[in-house]
Amino acid sequence: MATLTESDLSAIEANLKHVTNRIRSTYDSSPIESRSSHPIRLVAVSKTKPISAILAAYRVGQRHFGENYLEELVMKSNDPAIISECDEIRWHFIGHLQSNKISKLVTSVPRLFCVETVDSEKCAKKLDATVNEKRGGSTTDDSALKVMVQVNTSGESQKSGLSPDQAVELATLIEKECPSLRFLGFMTIGSLEQSAQGENMDFARLIETRAAYCRMHSIADEKSVELSMGMSGDFETAIKMGSTNVRVGSTIFGERAAPAPK
Ligand SMILES: *Cc1c(COP(=O)(O)O)cnc(C)c1O
Repeated sequence: MATLTESDLSAIEANLKHVTNRIRSTYDSSPIESRSSHPIRLVAVSKTKPISAILAAYRVGQRHFGENYLEELVMKSNDPAIISECDEIRWHFIGHLQSNKISKLVTSVPRLFCVETVDSEKCAKKLDATVNEKRGGSTTDDSALKVMVQVNTSGESQKSGLSPDQAVELATLIEKECPSLRFLGFMTIGSLEQSAQGENMDFARLIETRAAYCRMHSIADEKSVELSMGMSGDFETAIKMGSTNVRVGSTIFGERAAPAPK
């Protein structure tokens, strides 16, 4: 990872302020019926970016950070400067979840806030068992690990995630059979081409997934279930449609050399 100059760091601060302002003004101007009933959570996606970039964003108030490579998340979350200066940091794992890496994710990432990419029963159960073990068999509501279920809304085979029906089923299983996990809502990556057309069909499908889940469980307040959707290119569209959690990387930290997310 390249070393950042003073001007790179001040660019990150300025970008972050700009994104935060865009989030607020988009939220304020969105129809009350469709928008989230809570303030939007901004997850700053710092993958491939150095520790100094995270520290710069943290110093100007950013608290939620997302990473999608496990090794990188383990390294960054245990970095001495992060540990000593960022005691309110909240990590989100947003990468593809592999069952053989779950133990490491749960035990080696201090201040892990949420795993956004649960997409199989096997992974859900393993996460649940590992969290339970880590808590010595007594997980409370507060110490449960927050999770989201990843939906492949575009149906593209190279993307991770479940069909909407399977996602509803998995969310139900997590609620019923995984006491050490707390189901927060549904997550999608979606396709950017969709957003270019204004009304994003992938986001619409995520909203429909939530509606189906709420119908099945007679949840009257649909908006109590979260939607993680929207990235650099489409977070404003996502907020207008009801996103509660946007994951923004390159618009804050600059372009990456790494390949696009799956
Ligand atoms: C990389 C990544 C993002 C951020 O992408 P940008 O386009 O840089 O904002 C968001 N979500 C996931 C799952 C990612 O892998």
